[in-house]
Amino acid sequence: ATPTALMVGTGRGAQLGILLRGPEVLEQTRQVDTIVLDKTGTVTTGVMQVSGVHAVDATGAADDATTSRVLAAAAAVEAASEHPIATAIVQAAQDLPVGSVSGFRSTEGVGVTGIVDGATVRVGSPREFADSLPAALRTAVDAAHERGATAVIVTIDTADGSGVPSAQGVIVVGDELKPTSAEAISELKRMGLTPVLLTGDNPGAARHVAAQVGIEMVIAQVRPDEKVAAVVELQQQGHTVAMVGDGINDAAALAQADLGLSMGTGTDVAIAAADLTIVDGDLRKVIDAIRLSRRTLATIK
Ligand code: ADP
Ligand code: MG
Repeated sequence: ATPTALMVGTGRGAQLGILLRGPEVLEQTRQVDTIVLDKTGTVTTGVMQVSGVHAVDATGAADDATTSRVLAAAAAVEAASEHPIATAIVQAAQDLPVGSVSGFRSTEGVGVTGIVDGATVRVGSPREFADSLPAALRTAVDAAHERGATAVIVTIDTADGSGVPSAQGVIVVGDELKPTSAEAISELKRMGLTPVLLTGDNPGAARHVAAQVGIEMVIAQVRPDEKVAAVVELQQQGHTVAMVGDGINDAAALAQADLGLSMGTGTDVAIAAADLTIVDGDLRKVIDAIRLSRRTLATIK
């Protein structure tokens, strides 16, 4: 490949809203046969909304006051997070008195925790938090997952040493497909690439999205290190793997992939880890990038 042709290709990419880390990225792009896609913010809009809150107090009773207390406590902790789930919860609690958080900690792909009004509040994945959920909340989680929604668990632990949360709840959130995702994925398949959906979200939500856009292979409920392992496994099977993602939780997998693509609408950490950035977050630009690389490299020998 002549440097001039690659430079021209790189400039053409920029005009299309595709930013390449360097001209050599065009060569990597051409080789790809498998495309791993993050779900939230990549295939879907990543603009989540709360669709339900279920809560019980220490005695197992449910009432509006407990529901509000759980939502407000969750929002206090999530105010310190930039995750799409956090944004949705903060928005849903905007009319409630939300306290401030201290000792905030975030674990990518798991959830967040902090101290609000003297109580330890945790918000996160059912996979990590649901060890001892009351039946009513378990049912709410299962129902959400069956509908293809995302459920997070909230626990408010008081410091009385009883080990019984003073209140706990389930917050159900969801977002929509990006309008161009289905078209982009069917075209990628026509071009001979195999799409794989890779998400930290629950298998129900993952399968729901996969079915709507025509993805057959789904890897769900994985933490960031397991996203990396999934990419490695595909590579060990002999595939040349592109990974598209937007979150902090995708950064390591983007770096591991033969070609890392980030959404310009996503986090700085993902953009920094990627070889190529799609400025407007439209998945159809992945197709433009592959076509550009094929064209650029076909004209030079
Ligand atoms: P995805 O791969 O869909 O972008 P993540 O890896 O960011 O998902 O998150 C996986 C799961 O971890 C979420 O579905 C949620 O259960 C939990 N989680 C991550 N961050 C948060 C947060 N800030 N608040 C609550 N739950 C979270
Ligand atoms: Mg994401």
